Amino acid sequence: MDFTLKKYTELITTLKEKNYSFQTFEEFIKKPKNKVVILRHDVDLLPQNSLKFAQIQNKLGIKGSYYFRAVPESWDEDIILQIDSLGHELGYHYETMDTARGDVDLAIDQFEQHLNEIRELVNVETICMHGSPRSKFDNKELWKKYNYLDFDIIGEPYFDVDFNQVFYLTDTGRRWDGHKVSVRDKVNGSFEQKYHSTNQIIKAINSSELPKKIMFTFHPQRWHKNSLLWAKELVLQNVKNIIKKYFYV
Ligand SMILES: [Zn+2]
Repeated sequence: MDFTLKKYTELITTLKEKNYSFQTFEEFIKKPKNKVVILRHDVDLLPQNSLKFAQIQNKLGIKGSYYFRAVPESWDEDIILQIDSLGHELGYHYETMDTARGDVDLAIDQFEQHLNEIRELVNVETICMHGSPRSKFDNKELWKKYNYLDFDIIGEPYFDVDFNQVFYLTDTGRRWDGHKVSVRDKVNGSFEQKYHSTNQIIKAINSSELPKKIMFTFHPQRWHKNSLLWAKELVLQNVKNIIKKYFYV
């Protein structure tokens, strides 16, 4: 069974065994290592699941980056503080072009306000846009007029990673080749992404097929311990993929 915490742990353990280092996105921006994995987590909802990921990593002695949205289904101050106390990086998963209905000046005000709110809890040096598939707005458009460097932000994955150097893998749509149906979560890079299941990726790591630098994006709400919940999420995700394909692709 795929997309379980067990499979996740197997993936991370395999990367460790193959001598990949793990850096937070912030560390990677400042001083990238040669053979390295960045574990990025978009906490879209069910923050409890992200805490599980953070705890598993902590047990394995590694760190990841966790991006929280400023909405009730993501923003859980207890969990933000707990993940921070495990030594991980925290960041802001912004979507204010959506919430401001495309008004870029209002969007930057909301951005600054939410950034300040999360910075009251933890140190934040990087951000990452949330890409809502049902929205007509692109949150990255904020940076056509404004500059996040002015907010003491040193990195945004969609702008500050060279995806010709860094292999990008995302679990969008509960599969690793879901970028084919994704509207927003796409990057332009030179690597071919042909993996569908976590097992295929594990196999590729074991046979040293994968590039030296990798960014994984996880949506921990899609990963489950409980197989019943897992089945429910799978059905929902398949329906979503069909809808996305029908309306946007
Ligand atoms: Zn998101």
